Amino acid sequence: MKITIIIILFITLSSCNNRRDKINRQSNFDYSGVESYFRLIESISVNGTFSESEWIDFLNVEGNRLYIEENNIPEDYLDNIKENIIKVYASKNFDDNEDIVYKIRNSFRKNDSIYREHLKFLKNNEQILLDSMIARTIKFLPDHRLLNDSLPKLYYHALDHDGSANGKGIFISIMAAHQNNSRRLSNFESHEFFHIQRPDILEHVKIDSIDQGIIWALNAILDEGIADMVDKDVMLADNSDWWLKEMVNDFYVGKSKDVISNFNTLIIDETNGKHHSENDYREAFLGSVGHVPGYSMAKLITDKGKSREMIDNADDPFSFFILYNDIASENPEEYPHYDNVAMQYVKELANKYGK
Ligand SMILES: [Zn+2]
Repeated sequence: MKITIIIILFITLSSCNNRRDKINRQSNFDYSGVESYFRLIESISVNGTFSESEWIDFLNVEGNRLYIEENNIPEDYLDNIKENIIKVYASKNFDDNEDIVYKIRNSFRKNDSIYREHLKFLKNNEQILLDSMIARTIKFLPDHRLLNDSLPKLYYHALDHDGSANGKGIFISIMAAHQNNSRRLSNFESHEFFHIQRPDILEHVKIDSIDQGIIWALNAILDEGIADMVDKDVMLADNSDWWLKEMVNDFYVGKSKDVISNFNTLIIDETNGKHHSENDYREAFLGSVGHVPGYSMAKLITDKGKSREMIDNADDPFSFFILYNDIASENPEEYPHYDNVAMQYVKELANKYGK
């Protein structure tokens, strides 16, 4: 008995050690975007503004530079952020304003001490956050397994209120990190980590140019749909004083019926030889990548008790589409669905490219 316990303990400890060896904590976290922001606003508090060279230095720290490059943030949007930073921090009071860029800056100013505290919290809890991120994410991956052992670098910034993942790592606003972590640790990091770790049956498949648009679309709704199941539940469960709930209810859910109807029309066009581009589908999804209609589709599948089937096939965009439509078609009055012609076309694509 005692030997068994020692062996189990040894295996547990050695696997922890292995994991620690693989995770270089210092190189996995980058806070340069947030720290440089605090330097920038300190300059405003002293001088009432900041110089052009201070702004350029701010944009050029690694966390900001990569975030801007990887997300193709346009220059005029950065100028808009700059103007709003000066406007908000130079102001004596906390004016409210409907402009989203202004609202984000106002939140940064109002909650300055909270975000500074959160930065400290992240620095002191890197390992716990990584472990929590892995544990949450694997629940949404086929066989509950990571695709690979390599962990992305995590960059925290203060430029916006968003998160993204790509080949360079995960980029998260400290504002969004705080709002998520105060509800469930690593919540937003897990959403982004899911994108990186999700296997994709089409990764090494050559897609004919005429099919590239629709394949992008099918993959995008699966990718954002399931990723939204990772993090949105706790965010919607409370009445927090911010606008995510509004966005999900009004946009993700509110627009999903129309978007599914338009998507259906575009698929029927494909059956008639009119092939649409990735951009056409991006527009049809209202610039949401795949959140609309992916969130509503994944939510219905989950609510109907089929999440296990959805997750086991998280590598397969055709299965996701077919699974959703089978459920929605059972109650066509209540749920938006794709018609038989569209369904048949997706099944043909599955035969051509699927597993
Ligand atoms: Zn996402």
